[in-house]
Amino acid sequence: MALDPEQTAKVQAWLQQYSIKACPVCKSKKWTVADPVGLPFILGSNIGKALPSLPFICGRCGLTLLINLNNIGLP
Ligand SMILES: [Zn+2]
Repeated sequence: MALDPEQTAKVQAWLQQYSIKACPVCKSKKWTVADPVGLPFILGSNIGKALPSLPFICGRCGLTLLINLNNIGLP
């Protein structure tokens, strides 16, 4: 699922609020945003459900930060 223009605007607003700086591993400042993912819960009462997340990927080393979609304002 690619982000539509409204969703992209929400991501950009989030980025302005919590600006990601340099990568903590390689210090690169080139980040890309991938399509949303759902991380499966493997223990607890949420087994069978997924944690909706948006990956921010460092363009140099590949470090991936996952931000909860709810915090970005995405469904
Ligand atoms: Zn990096």
